[in-house]
Amino acid sequence: MNTYALIVLVALLGEFALSVVSSLLNIQAMSPNVPDEFRSVYDDETYGRSQQYTRSRTRFGLVQEAVSLVTLLLFWQLGGFGWLDGLCRVAGLGPVPTGLLFIAALVVGLTVLGLPFRIFSTFVIEERFGFNRTTIGTFVLDRVKGLVLGAVLGGALLALVLFFFEWAGPLAWIWCWGAATTFMLTAQFVAPTWIMPLFNTFSPLESGDLKDALLDYARSAKFPLDGVFVIDGSRRSAKANAFFTGFGSRKRIALFDTLIEKQTTPELVAIVAHEVGHYKRRHILKNLVIGLAHTGALFWLLSLFLDRQGLFDAFGVPEPSVHAGLVFFGLLFTPIELVLSIVVNRFSRRYEFEADAFAADTTGTGESLITALKTLSADNLSNLTPHPLQVFLHHSHPPVLQRITALRGLDR
Ligand SMILES: [Zn+2]
Repeated sequence: MNTYALIVLVALLGEFALSVVSSLLNIQAMSPNVPDEFRSVYDDETYGRSQQYTRSRTRFGLVQEAVSLVTLLLFWQLGGFGWLDGLCRVAGLGPVPTGLLFIAALVVGLTVLGLPFRIFSTFVIEERFGFNRTTIGTFVLDRVKGLVLGAVLGGALLALVLFFFEWAGPLAWIWCWGAATTFMLTAQFVAPTWIMPLFNTFSPLESGDLKDALLDYARSAKFPLDGVFVIDGSRRSAKANAFFTGFGSRKRIALFDTLIEKQTTPELVAIVAHEVGHYKRRHILKNLVIGLAHTGALFWLLSLFLDRQGLFDAFGVPEPSVHAGLVFFGLLFTPIELVLSIVVNRFSRRYEFEADAFAADTTGTGESLITALKTLSADNLSNLTPHPLQVFLHHSHPPVLQRITALRGLDR
Protein backbone atom coordinates (compact mmCIF):
# COMPACT_ATOMS: atom_id res chain seq x y z
CA MET A 1 0.00 0.00 0.00
CA ASN A 2 1.51 3.38 -0.92
CA THR A 3 1.88 6.32 1.47
CA TYR A 4 -1.08 8.27 0.09
CA ALA A 5 -3.39 5.29 0.41
CA LEU A 6 -2.20 4.70 3.96
CA ILE A 7 -2.77 8.34 4.96
CA VAL A 8 -6.29 8.36 3.51
CA LEU A 9 -7.19 5.01 5.10
CA VAL A 10 -5.90 6.01 8.54
CA ALA A 11 -7.61 9.41 8.25
CA LEU A 12 -10.99 7.95 7.27
CA LEU A 13 -10.90 5.29 10.00
CA GLY A 14 -9.56 7.77 12.56
CA GLU A 15 -12.26 10.29 11.81
CA PHE A 16 -14.94 7.65 12.15
CA ALA A 17 -13.49 6.40 15.44
CA LEU A 18 -13.39 9.95 16.77
CA SER A 19 -16.98 10.44 15.75
CA VAL A 20 -18.07 7.26 17.56
CA VAL A 21 -16.21 8.25 20.73
CA SER A 22 -17.55 11.82 20.80
CA SER A 23 -21.11 10.63 20.07
CA LEU A 24 -20.99 8.09 22.90
CA LEU A 25 -19.57 10.68 25.31
CA ASN A 26 -22.29 13.07 24.18
CA ILE A 27 -25.01 10.56 25.01
CA GLN A 28 -23.41 9.83 28.38
CA ALA A 29 -23.15 13.52 29.21
CA MET A 30 -26.91 14.02 29.03
CA SER A 31 -28.15 14.99 32.44
CA PRO A 32 -31.16 12.97 33.63
CA ASN A 33 -32.66 16.04 35.31
CA VAL A 34 -33.74 19.31 33.76
CA PRO A 35 -31.04 21.94 34.46
CA ASP A 36 -32.47 24.48 36.95
CA GLU A 37 -32.26 27.31 34.46
CA PHE A 38 -34.69 25.48 32.17
CA ARG A 39 -37.39 24.40 34.63
CA SER A 40 -39.69 27.15 33.38
CA VAL A 41 -39.68 25.92 29.77
CA TYR A 42 -39.24 22.14 30.04
CA ASP A 43 -41.60 19.84 31.86
CA ASP A 44 -40.25 16.35 32.56
CA GLU A 45 -42.03 14.95 29.54
CA THR A 46 -40.60 17.52 27.08
CA TYR A 47 -37.17 17.10 28.63
CA GLY A 48 -37.40 13.33 28.22
CA ARG A 49 -38.38 13.79 24.60
CA SER A 50 -35.43 16.14 23.98
CA GLN A 51 -33.12 13.39 25.25
CA GLN A 52 -34.76 10.77 23.05
CA TYR A 53 -34.39 13.14 20.12
CA THR A 54 -30.65 13.59 20.77
CA ARG A 55 -30.28 9.80 21.05
CA SER A 56 -32.20 9.14 17.82
CA ARG A 57 -30.27 11.76 15.86
CA THR A 58 -26.93 10.52 17.19
CA ARG A 59 -27.70 6.89 16.36
CA PHE A 60 -28.89 7.92 12.90
CA GLY A 61 -25.75 10.03 12.29
CA LEU A 62 -23.47 7.14 13.23
CA VAL A 63 -25.30 4.65 10.98
CA GLN A 64 -25.12 7.10 8.09
CA GLU A 65 -21.40 7.70 8.65
CA ALA A 66 -20.70 3.97 8.87
CA VAL A 67 -22.58 3.21 5.64
CA SER A 68 -20.80 6.04 3.79
CA LEU A 69 -17.42 4.87 5.05
CA VAL A 70 -18.01 1.22 4.13
CA THR A 71 -19.33 2.18 0.69
CA LEU A 72 -16.33 4.39 0.01
CA LEU A 73 -13.86 1.74 1.17
CA LEU A 74 -15.56 -0.95 -0.94
CA PHE A 75 -15.73 1.27 -4.02
CA TRP A 76 -12.07 2.15 -3.59
CA GLN A 77 -10.76 -1.34 -2.82
CA LEU A 78 -12.81 -2.98 -5.59
CA GLY A 79 -11.25 -0.60 -8.11
CA GLY A 80 -14.31 1.61 -8.56
CA PHE A 81 -12.37 4.79 -9.27
CA GLY A 82 -10.29 3.20 -12.03
CA TRP A 83 -13.37 1.56 -13.52
CA LEU A 84 -15.35 4.84 -13.54
CA ASP A 85 -12.42 6.79 -14.98
CA GLY A 86 -12.08 4.26 -17.82
CA LEU A 87 -15.81 4.39 -18.46
CA CYS A 88 -15.80 8.21 -18.74
CA ARG A 89 -12.89 8.08 -21.18
CA VAL A 90 -14.60 5.61 -23.55
CA ALA A 91 -16.46 8.36 -25.40
CA GLY A 92 -13.13 10.05 -26.18
CA LEU A 93 -14.33 13.50 -25.13
CA GLY A 94 -11.89 16.26 -24.17
CA PRO A 95 -10.52 16.55 -20.63
CA VAL A 96 -13.20 19.00 -19.44
CA PRO A 97 -16.31 17.01 -20.50
CA THR A 98 -14.64 13.78 -19.34
CA GLY A 99 -13.93 15.35 -15.96
CA LEU A 100 -17.48 16.69 -15.69
CA LEU A 101 -18.83 13.20 -16.42
CA PHE A 102 -16.55 11.60 -13.81
CA ILE A 103 -17.50 14.00 -11.04
CA ALA A 104 -21.18 14.10 -12.03
CA ALA A 105 -21.28 10.30 -11.79
CA LEU A 106 -19.78 10.42 -8.28
CA VAL A 107 -22.21 13.17 -7.21
CA VAL A 108 -25.19 11.22 -8.56
CA GLY A 109 -23.90 8.12 -6.76
CA LEU A 110 -23.57 10.02 -3.47
CA THR A 111 -27.03 11.53 -3.91
CA VAL A 112 -28.63 8.15 -4.52
CA LEU A 113 -26.79 6.71 -1.51
CA GLY A 114 -27.90 9.62 0.67
CA LEU A 115 -31.53 9.56 -0.44
CA PRO A 116 -32.80 6.80 1.89
CA PHE A 117 -31.14 8.64 4.79
CA ARG A 118 -32.81 11.92 3.89
CA ILE A 119 -36.16 10.18 3.61
CA PHE A 120 -35.67 8.45 6.95
CA SER A 121 -34.50 11.64 8.64
CA THR A 122 -37.41 13.74 7.36
CA PHE A 123 -40.32 11.29 7.38
CA VAL A 124 -39.36 9.05 10.30
CA ILE A 125 -37.20 10.88 12.87
CA GLU A 126 -38.42 14.46 12.39
CA GLU A 127 -41.96 13.13 11.97
CA ARG A 128 -41.82 11.11 15.18
CA PHE A 129 -40.77 14.17 17.18
CA GLY A 130 -43.41 16.37 15.59
CA PHE A 131 -41.08 18.58 13.54
CA ASN A 132 -41.79 17.42 10.03
CA ARG A 133 -44.09 19.53 7.86
CA THR A 134 -42.55 18.51 4.52
CA THR A 135 -44.99 16.87 2.10
CA ILE A 136 -43.78 14.22 -0.35
CA GLY A 137 -44.34 16.76 -3.14
CA THR A 138 -42.15 19.42 -1.50
CA PHE A 139 -39.51 16.80 -0.71
CA VAL A 140 -39.30 15.60 -4.33
CA LEU A 141 -39.31 19.14 -5.72
CA ASP A 142 -36.54 20.18 -3.29
CA ARG A 143 -34.32 17.34 -4.44
CA VAL A 144 -34.95 18.10 -8.13
CA LYS A 145 -34.35 21.85 -7.69
CA GLY A 146 -31.21 21.18 -5.67
CA LEU A 147 -29.82 18.84 -8.31
CA VAL A 148 -30.57 21.23 -11.18
CA LEU A 149 -29.09 24.17 -9.28
CA GLY A 150 -26.00 22.14 -8.34
CA ALA A 151 -25.59 20.94 -11.93
CA VAL A 152 -25.82 24.47 -13.35
CA LEU A 153 -23.77 26.40 -10.77
CA GLY A 154 -21.46 23.62 -9.59
CA GLY A 155 -21.02 22.34 -13.13
CA ALA A 156 -20.02 25.77 -14.43
CA LEU A 157 -17.45 26.32 -11.68
CA LEU A 158 -16.11 22.80 -12.02
CA ALA A 159 -15.75 23.23 -15.80
CA LEU A 160 -13.69 26.38 -15.21
CA VAL A 161 -11.46 24.66 -12.64
CA LEU A 162 -10.85 21.71 -14.98
CA PHE A 163 -10.15 24.11 -17.82
CA PHE A 164 -7.65 26.24 -15.87
CA PHE A 165 -5.70 23.29 -14.48
CA GLU A 166 -5.55 21.80 -17.96
CA TRP A 167 -4.36 24.92 -19.79
CA ALA A 168 -3.29 27.75 -17.50
CA GLY A 169 0.07 26.28 -16.43
CA PRO A 170 1.62 26.87 -13.00
CA LEU A 171 -0.66 29.81 -12.19
CA ALA A 172 -3.82 27.77 -12.72
CA TRP A 173 -4.58 27.78 -9.00
CA ILE A 174 -4.78 31.60 -9.00
CA TRP A 175 -7.24 31.53 -11.89
CA CYS A 176 -9.32 28.93 -10.08
CA TRP A 177 -9.23 30.98 -6.93
CA GLY A 178 -10.40 34.03 -8.89
CA ALA A 179 -13.24 32.06 -10.46
CA ALA A 180 -14.32 30.59 -7.11
CA THR A 181 -14.16 34.02 -5.45
CA THR A 182 -16.32 35.53 -8.18
CA PHE A 183 -18.79 32.67 -7.72
CA MET A 184 -18.91 33.03 -3.94
CA LEU A 185 -19.40 36.79 -4.04
CA THR A 186 -22.01 36.62 -6.81
CA ALA A 187 -23.86 33.90 -4.92
CA GLN A 188 -24.07 36.15 -1.84
CA PHE A 189 -25.72 38.82 -3.96
CA VAL A 190 -28.08 36.73 -6.03
CA ALA A 191 -29.04 34.20 -3.35
CA PRO A 192 -31.75 36.38 -1.75
CA THR A 193 -33.38 37.36 -5.04
CA TRP A 194 -32.87 34.33 -7.28
CA ILE A 195 -31.96 31.25 -5.30
CA MET A 196 -33.81 31.36 -1.96
CA PRO A 197 -37.18 32.20 -3.57
CA LEU A 198 -36.90 28.91 -5.48
CA PHE A 199 -37.34 27.12 -2.16
CA ASN A 200 -39.31 29.51 0.03
CA THR A 201 -41.80 32.33 -0.19
CA PHE A 202 -40.68 35.64 1.27
CA SER A 203 -43.52 37.99 2.17
CA PRO A 204 -43.17 41.45 3.73
CA LEU A 205 -44.02 41.51 7.45
CA GLU A 206 -47.44 43.10 7.99
CA SER A 207 -47.46 46.53 9.56
CA GLY A 208 -47.97 46.43 13.30
CA ASP A 209 -46.22 46.43 16.66
CA LEU A 210 -43.62 43.85 15.69
CA LYS A 211 -42.58 45.62 12.50
CA ASP A 212 -42.44 48.98 14.31
CA ALA A 213 -40.36 47.50 17.13
CA LEU A 214 -37.89 45.91 14.69
CA LEU A 215 -37.52 49.04 12.58
CA ASP A 216 -37.15 51.19 15.72
CA TYR A 217 -34.40 48.91 16.94
CA ALA A 218 -32.62 48.94 13.55
CA ARG A 219 -32.71 52.74 13.58
CA SER A 220 -31.37 52.95 17.13
CA ALA A 221 -28.55 50.52 16.28
CA LYS A 222 -27.77 52.56 13.12
CA PHE A 223 -28.39 49.56 10.94
CA PRO A 224 -29.97 50.46 7.59
CA LEU A 225 -32.71 47.99 6.70
CA ASP A 226 -34.42 47.51 3.38
CA GLY A 227 -37.23 45.42 4.82
CA VAL A 228 -38.48 42.80 7.19
CA PHE A 229 -39.68 39.57 5.62
CA VAL A 230 -41.47 36.49 6.78
CA ILE A 231 -40.28 33.21 5.30
CA ASP A 232 -42.53 30.15 5.18
CA GLY A 233 -40.22 27.81 7.10
CA SER A 234 -43.34 25.97 8.28
CA ARG A 235 -43.51 24.41 4.83
CA ARG A 236 -40.77 22.01 5.83
CA SER A 237 -40.28 22.01 9.57
CA ALA A 238 -41.71 23.27 12.84
CA LYS A 239 -38.20 24.36 13.84
CA ALA A 240 -37.56 28.09 13.92
CA ASN A 241 -34.81 30.36 12.65
CA ALA A 242 -33.95 33.89 11.53
CA PHE A 243 -31.32 35.32 9.21
CA PHE A 244 -30.19 38.30 7.20
CA THR A 245 -29.76 38.53 3.47
CA GLY A 246 -28.29 41.18 1.22
CA PHE A 247 -25.54 43.74 1.54
CA GLY A 248 -25.06 47.44 2.15
CA SER A 249 -28.32 49.33 2.24
CA ARG A 250 -30.16 46.35 0.71
CA LYS A 251 -30.12 44.32 3.90
CA ARG A 252 -33.25 42.41 4.81
CA ILE A 253 -34.25 40.41 7.84
CA ALA A 254 -36.04 37.16 7.20
CA LEU A 255 -37.88 35.70 10.18
CA PHE A 256 -39.31 32.20 9.97
CA ASP A 257 -43.08 32.17 10.41
CA THR A 258 -42.47 29.44 13.00
CA LEU A 259 -40.32 31.86 15.00
CA ILE A 260 -42.89 34.67 14.97
CA GLU A 261 -45.51 32.17 16.12
CA LYS A 262 -43.59 31.26 19.27
CA GLN A 263 -41.68 34.33 20.42
CA THR A 264 -42.84 37.63 21.93
CA THR A 265 -42.01 40.99 20.33
CA PRO A 266 -39.13 41.81 22.76
CA GLU A 267 -37.70 38.33 22.18
CA LEU A 268 -37.87 38.77 18.40
CA VAL A 269 -36.16 42.16 18.71
CA ALA A 270 -33.43 40.50 20.80
CA ILE A 271 -32.96 37.77 18.16
CA VAL A 272 -32.70 40.38 15.40
CA ALA A 273 -30.30 42.39 17.59
CA HIS A 274 -28.10 39.29 17.85
CA GLU A 275 -28.07 38.99 14.06
CA VAL A 276 -27.28 42.72 13.73
CA GLY A 277 -24.41 42.06 16.16
CA HIS A 278 -22.90 39.60 13.67
CA TYR A 279 -22.87 42.39 11.08
CA LYS A 280 -21.67 45.16 13.34
CA ARG A 281 -18.87 43.07 14.80
CA ARG A 282 -17.86 42.22 11.20
CA HIS A 283 -18.31 38.48 11.67
CA ILE A 284 -19.92 38.12 8.27
CA LEU A 285 -16.98 39.87 6.62
CA LYS A 286 -14.42 37.89 8.62
CA ASN A 287 -16.10 34.61 7.69
CA LEU A 288 -16.07 35.61 4.05
CA VAL A 289 -12.36 36.50 4.17
CA ILE A 290 -11.54 33.24 5.98
CA GLY A 291 -13.60 31.33 3.42
CA LEU A 292 -11.74 32.98 0.53
CA ALA A 293 -8.32 32.38 2.09
CA HIS A 294 -9.29 28.75 2.70
CA THR A 295 -10.34 28.30 -0.93
CA GLY A 296 -7.11 29.88 -2.18
CA ALA A 297 -5.00 27.63 0.04
CA LEU A 298 -6.90 24.56 -1.16
CA PHE A 299 -6.37 25.36 -4.84
CA TRP A 300 -2.69 26.03 -4.24
CA LEU A 301 -2.20 22.74 -2.38
CA LEU A 302 -4.23 20.94 -5.02
CA SER A 303 -1.87 22.27 -7.69
CA LEU A 304 1.05 20.71 -5.80
CA PHE A 305 -0.58 17.27 -5.70
CA LEU A 306 -1.99 17.04 -9.22
CA ASP A 307 1.19 15.65 -10.74
CA ARG A 308 1.94 13.11 -8.00
CA GLN A 309 1.63 9.74 -9.69
CA GLY A 310 1.50 8.09 -6.25
CA LEU A 311 -1.83 9.76 -5.46
CA PHE A 312 -3.42 8.21 -8.56
CA ASP A 313 -1.78 4.83 -7.92
CA ALA A 314 -3.28 4.87 -4.43
CA PHE A 315 -6.77 4.88 -5.91
CA GLY A 316 -6.10 2.50 -8.78
CA VAL A 317 -6.31 5.09 -11.54
CA PRO A 318 -3.40 4.60 -13.97
CA GLU A 319 -3.72 7.81 -15.92
CA PRO A 320 -3.37 11.09 -13.95
CA SER A 321 -6.06 13.69 -14.63
CA VAL A 322 -7.31 16.89 -13.07
CA HIS A 323 -10.76 15.49 -12.32
CA ALA A 324 -9.52 12.40 -10.50
CA GLY A 325 -6.82 14.45 -8.76
CA LEU A 326 -9.52 16.79 -7.45
CA VAL A 327 -11.44 13.92 -5.85
CA PHE A 328 -8.38 12.14 -4.42
CA PHE A 329 -6.94 15.35 -3.07
CA GLY A 330 -10.28 15.93 -1.32
CA LEU A 331 -9.93 12.53 0.38
CA LEU A 332 -6.26 13.07 1.23
CA PHE A 333 -7.20 16.33 2.86
CA THR A 334 -9.84 14.91 5.24
CA PRO A 335 -7.71 15.23 8.40
CA ILE A 336 -6.58 18.79 7.61
CA GLU A 337 -10.16 19.81 6.84
CA LEU A 338 -11.22 18.40 10.21
CA VAL A 339 -8.58 20.53 11.97
CA LEU A 340 -9.62 23.60 9.96
CA SER A 341 -13.29 23.11 10.77
CA ILE A 342 -12.41 22.85 14.48
CA VAL A 343 -10.61 26.19 14.23
CA VAL A 344 -13.49 27.79 12.31
CA ASN A 345 -16.02 26.48 14.85
CA ARG A 346 -13.87 27.87 17.66
CA PHE A 347 -14.11 31.33 16.08
CA SER A 348 -17.78 30.90 15.36
CA ARG A 349 -18.55 30.14 19.03
CA ARG A 350 -16.67 33.28 20.08
CA TYR A 351 -18.67 35.29 17.56
CA GLU A 352 -21.90 33.98 19.10
CA PHE A 353 -20.88 35.33 22.51
CA GLU A 354 -19.96 38.66 20.90
CA ALA A 355 -23.29 38.90 19.06
CA ASP A 356 -25.15 38.03 22.27
CA ALA A 357 -23.26 40.79 24.12
CA PHE A 358 -24.07 43.22 21.31
CA ALA A 359 -27.78 42.37 21.58
CA ALA A 360 -27.78 42.82 25.36
CA ASP A 361 -25.90 46.08 24.99
CA THR A 362 -28.08 47.65 22.30
CA THR A 363 -31.46 46.46 23.61
CA GLY A 364 -30.52 47.42 27.17
CA THR A 365 -31.05 43.94 28.62
CA GLY A 366 -29.94 40.36 28.16
CA GLU A 367 -33.18 39.05 29.64
CA SER A 368 -35.22 38.98 26.38
CA LEU A 369 -32.48 37.08 24.57
CA ILE A 370 -32.26 34.63 27.47
CA THR A 371 -35.96 33.81 27.32
CA ALA A 372 -35.79 33.68 23.52
CA LEU A 373 -32.93 31.17 23.69
CA LYS A 374 -34.79 29.09 26.24
CA THR A 375 -37.95 28.96 24.13
CA LEU A 376 -35.92 28.11 21.02
CA SER A 377 -34.07 25.32 22.82
CA ALA A 378 -37.27 23.81 24.18
CA ASP A 379 -39.13 24.05 20.86
CA ASN A 380 -36.22 22.54 18.92
CA LEU A 381 -35.62 19.88 21.62
CA SER A 382 -31.97 20.96 21.78
CA ASN A 383 -29.47 19.00 23.82
CA LEU A 384 -28.81 21.27 26.80
CA THR A 385 -25.69 19.49 28.06
CA PRO A 386 -23.53 18.46 25.07
CA HIS A 387 -20.18 16.85 25.89
CA PRO A 388 -17.20 19.27 25.56
CA LEU A 389 -15.54 17.01 22.96
CA GLN A 390 -18.66 17.12 20.78
CA VAL A 391 -18.77 20.92 21.14
CA PHE A 392 -15.04 21.18 20.36
CA LEU A 393 -15.35 19.03 17.23
CA HIS A 394 -18.66 20.03 15.72
CA HIS A 395 -20.54 22.90 17.34
CA SER A 396 -20.65 26.32 15.68
CA HIS A 397 -22.70 27.61 18.64
CA PRO A 398 -21.78 27.45 22.33
CA PRO A 399 -24.01 25.33 24.59
CA VAL A 400 -27.07 27.41 25.41
CA LEU A 401 -26.41 27.30 29.16
CA GLN A 402 -23.01 28.93 28.62
CA ARG A 403 -24.64 31.66 26.54
CA ILE A 404 -27.18 32.30 29.26
CA THR A 405 -24.48 32.44 31.93
CA ALA A 406 -22.50 34.89 29.82
CA LEU A 407 -25.58 37.08 29.27
CA ARG A 408 -26.36 37.09 33.01
CA GLY A 409 -22.77 38.18 33.66
CA LEU A 410 -23.34 41.20 31.40
CA ASP A 411 -26.56 42.24 33.12
CA ARG A 412 -25.01 42.70 36.56
ZN1 LIG B 1 -25.48 33.93 15.90
